[in-house]
Amino acid sequence: MTRLAQTLGLTEFQTEIVSTVRQFVDKEVIPTAQELEHSDTYPQAIVDQMKEMGLFGLMIPEEYGGLGESLLTYALCVEELARGWMSVSGVINTHFIVAYMIRQHGTDAQKQKFLPRMATGETRGAFSMSEPELGSDIAAIRTRAIKQSNGDYVIDGQKMWLTNGGSSTLVATLVRTDEGADKPHRNLTAFLVEKPTGFGEVVAGLTIPGKLDKLGYKGIDTTELIFDGYRAAADDVLGGVTGQGFFQMMDGVEVGRVNVSARACGVGIRAFELAVRYAQQRQTFGRPIAEHQAVAFQLAEMATKVEAAHLMMVNAARLKDSGERNDVAAGMAKYLASEFCSEVTQQSFRIHGGYGYSKEYEIERLMRDAPFLLIGEGTSEIQKNIISKRLLSDYRI
Ligand SMILES: Cc1cc2nc3c(=O)[nH]c(=O)nc-3n(C[C@H](O)[C@H](O)[C@H](O)COP(=O)(O)OP(=O)(O)OC[C@H]3O[C@@H](n4cnc5c(N)ncnc54)[C@H](O)[C@@H]3O)c2cc1C
Repeated sequence: MTRLAQTLGLTEFQTEIVSTVRQFVDKEVIPTAQELEHSDTYPQAIVDQMKEMGLFGLMIPEEYGGLGESLLTYALCVEELARGWMSVSGVINTHFIVAYMIRQHGTDAQKQKFLPRMATGETRGAFSMSEPELGSDIAAIRTRAIKQSNGDYVIDGQKMWLTNGGSSTLVATLVRTDEGADKPHRNLTAFLVEKPTGFGEVVAGLTIPGKLDKLGYKGIDTTELIFDGYRAAADDVLGGVTGQGFFQMMDGVEVGRVNVSARACGVGIRAFELAVRYAQQRQTFGRPIAEHQAVAFQLAEMATKVEAAHLMMVNAARLKDSGERNDVAAGMAKYLASEFCSEVTQQSFRIHGGYGYSKEYEIERLMRDAPFLLIGEGTSEIQKNIISKRLLSDYRI
């Protein structure tokens, strides 16, 4: 039997962990996702099991207590999790980006302090660049950190759209420090901000107002963050050097884009699975709708899109794992996988006829989750900007 989204050349460990996550998703996530999503309930029991499985430390080096696995292993696990419920993959997404940035750019002291606790899931990361006035145009960030005479910083400003804003305990946030550089992005610095979980003024000068009410991607908390005279120490600057934040965050976003592609693959696979099953059960005009060529062709198109997205995602992950820059490959994978995911969920919805519009059917949730993938970690337009700029430079005449 032809199964979609197979990956050749995996190690024994990769095959084992991906299959363990798949079984976990079939047994624990798919049966509960619908109810938790509709009641917008945080999937605590699922998250606890993910901690036990070591998923929070998947890419954290073994010397810090993680599993030291590759981006590819991580992405394949995310694909499986998102196949069950996109919100569950969102719980580890920002955590993984922050751990990656600390691993790549943190000082030794920051690695020692955070990575072991992040590997167990005791410390949980959130990633904050966006503000109410900006998301794509990161260089325009307004939140400001002003250096004090004792070397500390005072941060003021408002951040927007923090995935895991309330449930995280470590926020990597990008703010303006005004280094006097002529290029705006060189005036930005990443701070590692520790805080307790919860809502309200959780530490002096730092408020998480509450959960934003969203179209989909429910269960998981997405919040604002308000800095009002928040004091950060010089040691909280990622890597200990100011003015490097933009590059550090963009490095994080690059692996994050592979992760979003993997999520799009997972949601697309599930949409296909639901459609191919329903098309064989639902009868019209005396036969299963799968026997009407128009429906069978939809299935063929969906499967081809799922397969293409998976291959692009795997290619982008492998490129990063090989040590090569993967901005174009990650941008292409993110762009293609999220657009295809949107199309595939729409096709699956149509195959479900009227039942696709019912909250009893899973496809309804996928239809609300998929649009986020077109936006998160940079919209499709931003991916096309990145891809075309590099192509015009590489193919310059
Ligand atoms: C559920 C959710 C969770 C999120 N989680 C996080 C998070 O954890 N951390 C975080 O920092 N952010 C997060 N975001 C924010 C997300 O990254 C931004 O929404 C996204 O980058 C787009 O920014 P924007 O919403 O400000 O849109 P804008 O930048 O205002 O863009 C609006 C429209 O204009 C287009 N556009 C903008 N500039 C250009 C251009 N130069 N060329 C062509 N078209 C352009 C865009 O493609 C888009 O269609 C999240 C968002 C959502 C919805």
